[in-house]
Amino acid sequence: MTDFDSTLDRDEAWAVRPAFLELENHHSEVLVIGGGINGISIMRDLSLQGVKVTLIDAGDLISGASAASSHMIHGGIRYLENGEFRLVRESVQERNDLLRTAPHVVKPLRTAVPIFSLTSGILKAPLNFLNHGKSKTKAKRSERGALLIAIGLVIYESFSRVNGVMDRFSFYGAKRAAREIPSLHPKVKYMATYFDASVHEPERLALDLVSDALATGNARVLTYAKAVGTKDGGVIIEDALSHQTLVTFADVVVNASGPLTDITNSSLGRQTQFMGGTKGSHIVVDHPQLYSELAGRELFFENKDGRIVLIYPVKGRVLIGTTDIFVESGAEVVCTEEEVDYFFNLVEHILPGIHMERSQIVFRFSGIRPLPKQDAAQPGFVSRDYKIDQGILPNSQKTPLFSVVGGKWTTFRALGEHVSNLALAELSKVRSVSTLGLEIGGGKNFPTTEKATEDWVSARASVLGLTRTRALLSRYGTAAEKLIKYLELNGDTELENLKGYSQQEIAFLAIEENAVRLDDFLLRRTTLAFSGLLNQERVQELAKVAAAALGWSAEQIQSEITRAWDILQFKHGVEKTGGRVAI
Ligand SMILES: Cc1cc2nc3c(=O)[nH]c(=O)nc-3n(C[C@H](O)[C@H](O)[C@H](O)COP(=O)(O)OP(=O)(O)OC[C@H]3O[C@@H](n4cnc5c(N)ncnc54)[C@H](O)[C@@H]3O)c2cc1C
Repeated sequence: MTDFDSTLDRDEAWAVRPAFLELENHHSEVLVIGGGINGISIMRDLSLQGVKVTLIDAGDLISGASAASSHMIHGGIRYLENGEFRLVRESVQERNDLLRTAPHVVKPLRTAVPIFSLTSGILKAPLNFLNHGKSKTKAKRSERGALLIAIGLVIYESFSRVNGVMDRFSFYGAKRAAREIPSLHPKVKYMATYFDASVHEPERLALDLVSDALATGNARVLTYAKAVGTKDGGVIIEDALSHQTLVTFADVVVNASGPLTDITNSSLGRQTQFMGGTKGSHIVVDHPQLYSELAGRELFFENKDGRIVLIYPVKGRVLIGTTDIFVESGAEVVCTEEEVDYFFNLVEHILPGIHMERSQIVFRFSGIRPLPKQDAAQPGFVSRDYKIDQGILPNSQKTPLFSVVGGKWTTFRALGEHVSNLALAELSKVRSVSTLGLEIGGGKNFPTTEKATEDWVSARASVLGLTRTRALLSRYGTAAEKLIKYLELNGDTELENLKGYSQQEIAFLAIEENAVRLDDFLLRRTTLAFSGLLNQERVQELAKVAAAALGWSAEQIQSEITRAWDILQFKHGVEKTGGRVAI
């Protein structure tokens, strides 16, 4: 939660929540501060080992850096240049694992790299490995040529050969590249194609991990609850809605507050300087020509300034990103007009046949990468690897306080396992369950062939019909089964202003998925905002439905709508008059 969020809450009066009061003098074995992907992963791993774990977040789940990702589940071929072989090896293996354990949301991504020359950059790349982390004055990278990229791909693929779930990379020439992507720059000489993966709905993946953790009976989750200090060996928590405070206790505390890790440590009374984040922004555009020319593939290439950027189709739109700008860890960041210009220029650089207009932007987002503080010359040189620091919780006898520094979406499972092992050692407990290969939420028994999908759908379509059942499977994976049963009992009344969603579906999300505020529904329980589907009427209708499920008063409905629009307009550039046709 940021300063912007707290100003939004200034005039509101929320009752104290029973779930908050339950934490008073409560004793957990582990308290996790931060409900981003890393905190959630740690909670899931610990709960599976039988550890009693409590997770709190100052805002909603997945509302920090985890909401700002490029949606890539990737080994990070680019990090080879920085010599980060450990990270790349682990990431590729985690990517392959996620393709198996979360096939409902993590899909293979054909990635095309357009290249302007054969040999460029070949001499400077080894210098980048050698200088990594040592020099502030690293040579500016020259453009990456075809040979350098081929070497990178050979190393990259060697990391995953054991598990080998992806097709091999290939190269082809200018003619075929131009045939496949007519708007491509005529000076592109080669096209390398390899496979990575993407997560179309990161929030859904995280919410599934939360459901898995809650299902063990060992986890509890409270959002809008901020760690603000320490007292008598415990952690002081402030309810971000009612502003009440209380003290809760744990044998082990984990600070997983992403880019805010130092700030949280400071509130707890420990001064650290672990973080040195960079800002990254994206835009989402509704551009049918660009979408169709991409034909399902990601374009991953070097922009004029040497940054590796990406353009790829997701949920019927095209995602374009990203920037990499040094900022203070606690800074409030939004995607600026200069960054939009940068994105338009990068599209023009590689696809001069594509014309872009600002009216085609349906959503913008920005976040701070939780990177370790480093003395790097350029943001791209900062290590993307993670580390875990161990300290002592201030005002306690000896309560261990672990701080998570870094950690990407791709590696959340491995990071969760790592931190969980450290906590288990402190608790003198042993690991009983491995999360490697363990199916996640709606990925359990997910049908991956056309025939299996149709069998799954027809076996459950007797009440809702084939089309609706198919849509729910695609939205929630096999976790849709529980929702289908709920809808069979409670009805499935389609929203008046938004086809494809029902009143009861929204109520179900409120009950089952810890949604508290209206923006939780719009931004993180659904992809309505990301896909550019929101407008005034739709937000109003969704607010009414959420209010019925969560018992909001008429004033609360109004203030939730006002707050939601403040966030949508200020942070995401969404217009009240927007609202594209549902895809
Ligand atoms: C622009 C960008 C692009 C990226 N692209 C990719 C990508 O394509 N693939 C990939 O694998 N990774 C990507 N990443 C990296 C990845 O998104 C992040 O590293 C990851 O999401 C960090 O998760 P986290 O849980 O550590 O932090 P966060 O998601 O920031 O979670 C921390 C949580 O802690 C909470 N919090 C803070 N202070 C307190 C407190 N005092 N009390 C309680 N709660 C608190 C916050 O509200 C927040 O929800 C990208 C990141 C950015 C910014």
